[in-house]
Amino acid sequence: MATLASSETVRSSKLGRLVESFQVLAETCPVINATRAGSFAMAEEHYELPRFVFRGPATGMPPIRLGVFALVHGDEPAGAFALQGLLKRLVDAPAAAAGYELLLYPLCNPTGYEDGTRHNRAGFDLNREFWCDSELPEIRILEEELRTQQFDGVIALHTDDTCDGLYGYTQGRVLNENLLAPALRASAHVLPVDPRGIIDGFAAREGLIDDCYSGILAPPPDQRPRPFEIIFETPASAPMTQQVEATCCALQSVLAEYRGFIAQGANL
Ligand SMILES: [Zn+2]
Repeated sequence: MATLASSETVRSSKLGRLVESFQVLAETCPVINATRAGSFAMAEEHYELPRFVFRGPATGMPPIRLGVFALVHGDEPAGAFALQGLLKRLVDAPAAAAGYELLLYPLCNPTGYEDGTRHNRAGFDLNREFWCDSELPEIRILEEELRTQQFDGVIALHTDDTCDGLYGYTQGRVLNENLLAPALRASAHVLPVDPRGIIDGFAAREGLIDDCYSGILAPPPDQRPRPFEIIFETPASAPMTQQVEATCCALQSVLAEYRGFIAQGANL
């Protein structure tokens, strides 16, 4: 019993600390809504995938709805900390999110985070399981979320322990590249962009990879019009504070750039 009690304490403190830091923000800020995408049980333990919604100031247009996902790989917490940092900035300066409804998912793989592993506790890399009839509870919850929320854009935050700097995946779409390239430039004062011609086995150019793995977290394959999709990667070897700052800068850049695209489109 003593062992169980002590492992329970560790569990509560690690998962609890992460979620609590968001909840504290939500309690102090009326435009942040703390909810959850879903929950599941594993070995009689209860796990939740929290969802925090930030509504930026209205602009008279229907809000642009973005989903931002972190900790799909449980050993990559920089993205979750960056979402915390982004929320703090937006609480202080909400105009940066004017016209947006941001749905933030800081903990997509709670068992992996608890264990400090890339895979979930059942041994699956969640980022290879999307849209292929996976029965994994995390995937079912996230697919349902992606299907019902019908995002205008989906951003996934990751960390790579083999790269030399910041980079991202554009999946061959011009819109994705037009958002990711400025995002990399906006964060390059914090960490360098990975200059290599091959990153993670893919051809790369100035940190942009025009390809991706199958089974990654992405909008439903049949969703039209197609939302933009960005995967942003920070180097695991860099100090955590710099990974977090670089990701915050990248996210703020995407908000500014995409609003510009929408405004241009509205004027056409
Ligand atoms: Zn990852």
